[in-house]
Amino acid sequence: MNRIKILLVAFMLTPFLLMAQPETPVEEWTGRTVLFIGAHPDDDGGSHGTMATLQANGNDVYVMLLTTGNVGTSDPTMTRDRLAKIRRQEEVDALKELGIPEENYINLGYTDGMLEFADREEVVKQIVWWIRKLKPTTLMAFDPGYGYQQWHKTDHRTASYLAVDAARAAEWRLIFPSQIINEGLEEHSVTDYLFYSTTGSNDNTWVDISDFAENKVRSLSKYVSQFTSAFSNYTGPDLEDLPGNEGEEFLERMRRRVFERGSRDGKPMESFRYYRGNPDGAGSRRDW
Ligand SMILES: [Zn+2]
Repeated sequence: MNRIKILLVAFMLTPFLLMAQPETPVEEWTGRTVLFIGAHPDDDGGSHGTMATLQANGNDVYVMLLTTGNVGTSDPTMTRDRLAKIRRQEEVDALKELGIPEENYINLGYTDGMLEFADREEVVKQIVWWIRKLKPTTLMAFDPGYGYQQWHKTDHRTASYLAVDAARAAEWRLIFPSQIINEGLEEHSVTDYLFYSTTGSNDNTWVDISDFAENKVRSLSKYVSQFTSAFSNYTGPDLEDLPGNEGEEFLERMRRRVFERGSRDGKPMESFRYYRGNPDGAGSRRDW
């Protein structure tokens, strides 16, 4: 009896799960504008293969990070200003490995670790401005979760809501109307969402990043100030300046991360929760 019930429930859910897949596989998308929103330089790291694939396939990928990443260090000699500059350069260098030009990188300049205390209306207004300016078809953002809050660390949690809230606001011309009346922008609807950092079982879309896996190894290796001993003793952007064999070991660790930890069916992959529809329904299991 229980097996019958399980089969029945699976049968009833199947259409919804299938509906949640993109009609065209992400690897075949072309001609789109894609806006990635994250909190810190490196939040995009887990999506680098997908971003490189999209950019190479004739889509325009933009990356918007809300903070400068100016706090995350245990180097006692580091300052906020210096760290913000280091993190910017690391991000630009990483994006370059993905074929994404520096002019596609937008940073809103908020302080790392403090995003939830920023003026929410002001942050949303700025994101809306960029959505109306760039007119993305697809938004990549931290997954805010299905119908209930998904816990992320503070800036990530805040960024997950800000991104979808801004997408919602961007489509109403009477919200932030000055952008439309005085700045010549238009209201804009984002129709597709690729949410990253989902809770595992909520993933419904896997992207084969085989063609750009090596690019991802190289792009991840740019975050020297975050993923190596430079976190506590910054020695510059070059891996050769790290003590002993650390540079080589770091590269090997990134390679394992891409090819082993991120693999599925023997191929390097990245996973997302895809959602298509109105931003108001982004927390539901089905299309709007
Ligand atoms: Zn982060």
